[in-house]
Amino acid sequence: MVTYLYLDGNPQSGRNLLSRQASRKLKVPVKVNRKTPPPALQPFTDYFKGFEKVAAVRKVFGDETEAVLARLKIGFISNRRMYMGIRDDDGNVAIGTYHLRHSPTRVLYLDIVHELFHIKQWMEDKEWFTKEHEKFMGDFSLYYASPIEVPAYKHAVREAERLGMSPEEITEYLKMLPVPPKIWNKFIGEMAIKGTSGSKALPEDKLPVKINRNPKLVLLPFTDYFQGFEEAPPVKAIFGKGAREALGELKVEFLESPFGSIFPSEEDGHMVVNSSFIKEADVESIYLDVILSLNFIRRLSDSKPARQDSEETGFDESPKVVESYVAMVKEAKRLGTPDAKIMERLQLPRFMMSEKEFKKFVKAIGLKPGA
Ligand SMILES: [Zn+2]
Repeated sequence: MVTYLYLDGNPQSGRNLLSRQASRKLKVPVKVNRKTPPPALQPFTDYFKGFEKVAAVRKVFGDETEAVLARLKIGFISNRRMYMGIRDDDGNVAIGTYHLRHSPTRVLYLDIVHELFHIKQWMEDKEWFTKEHEKFMGDFSLYYASPIEVPAYKHAVREAERLGMSPEEITEYLKMLPVPPKIWNKFIGEMAIKGTSGSKALPEDKLPVKINRNPKLVLLPFTDYFQGFEEAPPVKAIFGKGAREALGELKVEFLESPFGSIFPSEEDGHMVVNSSFIKEADVESIYLDVILSLNFIRRLSDSKPARQDSEETGFDESPKVVESYVAMVKEAKRLGTPDAKIMERLQLPRFMMSEKEFKKFVKAIGLKPGA
């Protein structure tokens, strides 16, 4: 399973997903309502209770601790590869729902200690924070050398030591994405991890906090935002005569994220839509991403057990992923979408795969690499 994308924010900017080509008139009978609902931010303290008593948090905010945490909001992101990050635009926390539901309490605890350190950095100098954040979003090899990340990790490492975690456990916690050995070694050196082998870590149920792992999502009818899709040939191909009914039942969740455009929730098959993408992208790109997502959703719901397998095998090796992209490419070719524009719909696999894997994937879905 690929889990390396983002502990903090995300290397893929939504802006990069917008078409660089002039939009063409789309020959399909769809309409997109671009008036997305306001962001559904929720109080931090509804999910993370007791952090105002944690010394590592009080050390950062002092007497302001209660006030800062009371103001803080969470924007949830239904994406398995999203961990936690800071929303540059408003200084709130972004949290992946899968991470919240499934990660060990100790990991969530340390992540929050780390993110709250970022909140302080953001409060002190948003321009600097955002600039440094964007640097590694453009080149993830800079992540472990980032002047915002190194101090935030040092802070979390001191707390991990205090909890009694061994150097091995701490190192494992720290390493969640591929990193050039030189940068990693320098990073680990700077962490100056203390302690001896063998865990004496405080049991998770003894941590002085309570975490609510059940995020409230706002799910809205698909057909309030996407109209006429039941008439599109690839949608008829997916759902047959039941297309109108299937789309009538489909729910969408809007989020504001630096990441992605439209993708299926990996948890319950609703559709996740990035508000800025819907506001700004051309209808052809939106249409193709909806077609891709509907294919994913249908294929995932067809066979639950295989879904587990597909997460364990690589992204490119899962037949459902390949089949879904094949269906999207086929529709794009039918519409006469230029290859270069279709390639823009492949941001996610391009990011997740090595160059070699990506080339193979592009060929497998019926495109020419380098288009
Ligand atoms: Zn960070």
